[in-house]
Amino acid sequence: MLMHVPEQLVIRPPSEAKSLLVRVVRGCHWNRCAFCGIYDLFGVPYSQRSLEEVLKDIDALSERYGDIFTTAFLGDADPLSLDASFLVEVLQHLRLKFPRVKRITSYGRASSLAKKSPEDLSTISRAGLNRVHVGFESGSDQVLRLQKKGTSQRQLIDAGEKVMAAGMELSFYFLLGLGGRDLWKEHVEESVKVLNEVKPHFIRIRRLYIHPLSRLSEKLKNGDFREQTPEGTVVELKYLLDGLDAEGSTFACDHANNYLQVFGRLNAEKGRMLGIIDAFLALPERQRLAHYASIPSVI
Ligand code: SF4
Repeated sequence: MLMHVPEQLVIRPPSEAKSLLVRVVRGCHWNRCAFCGIYDLFGVPYSQRSLEEVLKDIDALSERYGDIFTTAFLGDADPLSLDASFLVEVLQHLRLKFPRVKRITSYGRASSLAKKSPEDLSTISRAGLNRVHVGFESGSDQVLRLQKKGTSQRQLIDAGEKVMAAGMELSFYFLLGLGGRDLWKEHVEESVKVLNEVKPHFIRIRRLYIHPLSRLSEKLKNGDFREQTPEGTVVELKYLLDGLDAEGSTFACDHANNYLQVFGRLNAEKGRMLGIIDAFLALPERQRLAHYASIPSVI
């Protein structure tokens, strides 16, 4: 008899590098963010998977690996758009087959989370989803609109607060450079407002990489978007951190394309982290430029 082969994810957060990866949905049902294009790049159109298929994948993963994982991640882009009852079945089966798993996480769009009732989110949390990774990107309505993110500042706050009230951890991903050279101040200032209000468990920093196949690349060519400079993104990082009052949040530049890898707890370690950024900005220009050139631009 042929062995069932579980499907693989396109991407996962770096913090899930050691996690069991379970695909509950293919691609992204939104797939319109101007800066993204990840699923087009990998040729993965959106489609739902049946519960039967997903449960069979979990069984096959259990047979293949045994009970070796302590963390698991559900993909692709937005499993939280699925019915709570579907997710509960997946989570319960995953917990049954992998009893050593302590943490299960998933990507989730703010718009999908905002549509879920507090009861549904609590049910999903109780069934075993511990953390949601949200591509927050920007708290500025203007930037969110221009980048076609399909969400708003208000929705980001509501979604974030609902996730935390349901007992799950929240990871917000902020994207340096998303406002370009023209909207960078608005991008940072409005993002600070959201982060200070929600105080997510994790504030994770990414730097915009404009992929040649993304819609933003077209805007760049047409002159409709002026890309932030490398130094501009470091200044954004400084202003963002400086504005934060998010007691208890972990601040993490945990991606290879960040120019500075600043990491620490807020608010206690804010001064130390700002000191690292200031020390870098005080280096001679030649050294700073050499550093920018040494960092890869990757998704
Ligand atoms: S950034 Fe996220 S929500 Fe936007 S198109 Fe890409 S995968 Fe979908």
